[in-house]
Amino acid sequence: MTEEKQHPWVILFDIDGTLLTVDRKFNRPLIRSILDDLGIDYPDMEKEGFSGRTDHDILTSFLLNHDFDEELYQKLKSEYLLRTDSEMNSGHVIRHSHIDEAISYFDKMGAYVGLLTGNYPSAAQAKLKVAGIEYDFKFGAFGEFDKDRNQLPLIALKEVEKNLNINPDPSRFVIIGDTPRDVECANYANMKCVAVTTGRFSKEELEPFNPNVIISDLSNPEEWFKKLTQA
Ligand SMILES: [Mg+2]
Repeated sequence: MTEEKQHPWVILFDIDGTLLTVDRKFNRPLIRSILDDLGIDYPDMEKEGFSGRTDHDILTSFLLNHDFDEELYQKLKSEYLLRTDSEMNSGHVIRHSHIDEAISYFDKMGAYVGLLTGNYPSAAQAKLKVAGIEYDFKFGAFGEFDKDRNQLPLIALKEVEKNLNINPDPSRFVIIGDTPRDVECANYANMKCVAVTTGRFSKEELEPFNPNVIISDLSNPEEWFKKLTQA
């Protein structure tokens, strides 16, 4: 019996906390000011952190005191995107070290390298641009329509199926992210997960979620990728 040829690895990078970090001193006041401008009476935004949540989830959570008003949500979303794009500059964003090393390692390997992020697509684009990350990611699974990050790997599977015209094998997908939610969504979809501690979570905090590998930054990708494929 001949073994069926495996498709290329699909590598999915998270953005916030993984490739870059947007300063909370920019992000929180921006959102507060938009909410105030729109007259939205919002619950305490520090109650639950933003880490690993989709933009759709974060923004709709501010509308809890307004039942659900689609028109208001769309206004909030478009103001958020407009002002993120126009007001964010390189002083608000830290570009993490070793990201080019990791991206180019997978690119040279012939992997299909994309994004899996809770961001709206244009927020993702704005952040990457400001951070000077110019790599042409092949595709993205974004948090535009879903509150639930666990849906993002399913979007990635559909995209790969469509773009490469293959029947995708989730065990050939690797999610690289910094939060328990990244690990959970990978496990939910039977994908592999590399957890990196460049975000707000430590090794000890990420470990209980069982990522395949935990690293402190994206340097030496050949080492941790080898560990991952042997895990
Ligand atoms: Mg993240």
